[in-house]
Amino acid sequence: MPSATPSSFIPLENIIIPAGFSKPLVELSPVRKIALALFVMGLLVFIIGGTGAFTAVPLLYSFGSLGLATLGALLYLLPLFREYKPGIHHNGIMFSKVQSRGALAWMVGIGMTGFYVLLYWYAEYLQHCIRAADPLSFWLRGKAADQWFLYGTLYTLAVVIMGVRMIAKYRHSRYQIIRTLSVVVFQLMFAYLIPAWLQMMNQPEFYFTYFWPLKYDYLNPANVRYFLASPNQLMVFMIIWGMIMTFVATPVLTYFFGKRWYCSWVCGCGGLAETLGDPFRQNSDKSLKAWKIERWMIYSVLIFVTSMTGLLWVNSAMQGGVLGEFSLGYAKAYSFFVGSLFSGVVGTGFYPIMGSRVWCRFGCPMAAVLGLFQRHFSRFRITTNGGQCISCGNCSTYCEMGIDVRSYAQRGENIVRASCVGCGVCSSVCPRGVLSLENGAAKGRVKQ
Ligand code: SF4
Ligand code: SF4
Repeated sequence: MPSATPSSFIPLENIIIPAGFSKPLVELSPVRKIALALFVMGLLVFIIGGTGAFTAVPLLYSFGSLGLATLGALLYLLPLFREYKPGIHHNGIMFSKVQSRGALAWMVGIGMTGFYVLLYWYAEYLQHCIRAADPLSFWLRGKAADQWFLYGTLYTLAVVIMGVRMIAKYRHSRYQIIRTLSVVVFQLMFAYLIPAWLQMMNQPEFYFTYFWPLKYDYLNPANVRYFLASPNQLMVFMIIWGMIMTFVATPVLTYFFGKRWYCSWVCGCGGLAETLGDPFRQNSDKSLKAWKIERWMIYSVLIFVTSMTGLLWVNSAMQGGVLGEFSLGYAKAYSFFVGSLFSGVVGTGFYPIMGSRVWCRFGCPMAAVLGLFQRHFSRFRITTNGGQCISCGNCSTYCEMGIDVRSYAQRGENIVRASCVGCGVCSSVCPRGVLSLENGAAKGRVKQ
């Protein structure tokens, strides 16, 4: 006989209300408690190793920190497939001190922000931690790790591990399963293993999934000239690949599929936001004021990067005669304020407070370009069946880009916003099947 309990609910026997609390908490199974302990132990070993305590035993340090934390995280997440039935899982999110901007969220945010500050400007304090990545680095690249290899390793582990969680949580949606697998594979292969292998082969470290304007130095005149003049055919291919992706593939693919082909399927920044950032997606600001700030900021960054690239080319054509110092200073300012401070420190460190797409929403110049195409020259839209909407607001709550999806659904209006990254979570959490991501004919997608 079918259960009367909706499949998305946690069984009642798993919900406990401790004395003195009015809020339900989900009890962890013994396996998940042990897994959590392993994960915390791995983190502690990693942090203690930062003092140099395990310098004499690098392999043990590596397995005892990164290895143990990875094992613990996977053992913690895999039982979700058995313990939770497929369906919409939101139970307790607004009671969680980590997920609803409580004290724990601030602690996690400050910890992540602090890590980025050390990584970018005080890497000498991470030297002992970096040794945890040495065995992997020697194996993949044939040389010792540096801070960027450690960062890439942690980043990729976060995407893979939290990708497992994402699939377990949204496995009632085929779109979410395939999309999550896509970002995990692109991160693992194209942003981690292939660049490492290129270094092993004494080739330039190149990321085939990053293009101008996100990877602004790929159109830097000095780089372009150096790569094109190289006798190495692979280097010539790399620079031509980047140009084709920027000037041909980006507009064409965005015309057919919207910005989601990149932001939610390929990009590493989007990959981290969709996996590690998923527990925080409800913290995005949905106000009109935030929408206004978002447009001012993102297009300002686009103007900044475009003018910087233009200046560098003018300077190069004039052989540094007139604008030499100024254009180099301009490029350094962009690299500091946007490349490091915004995309790293704020963009990821603020996940627990401002939601998972702070960088994509307020700062990414690639998202700005893709958004302009999506809004004005694309077939992509989210259609809404207004008659079915019960105004529950799930869609707006879980939109990481701060779009008030419900207001469109209530009016039965298509959503064609420049900022929508096509993650499809609004559709996956709608209990009434109101929302549908489509790539129909461009005509009529926007009401005049
Ligand atoms: S509107 Fe929907 S698909 Fe677009 S970003 Fe928001 S949740 Fe994702
Ligand atoms: S579109 Fe769906 S999720 Fe959004 S308010 Fe309506 S019923 Fe709720």
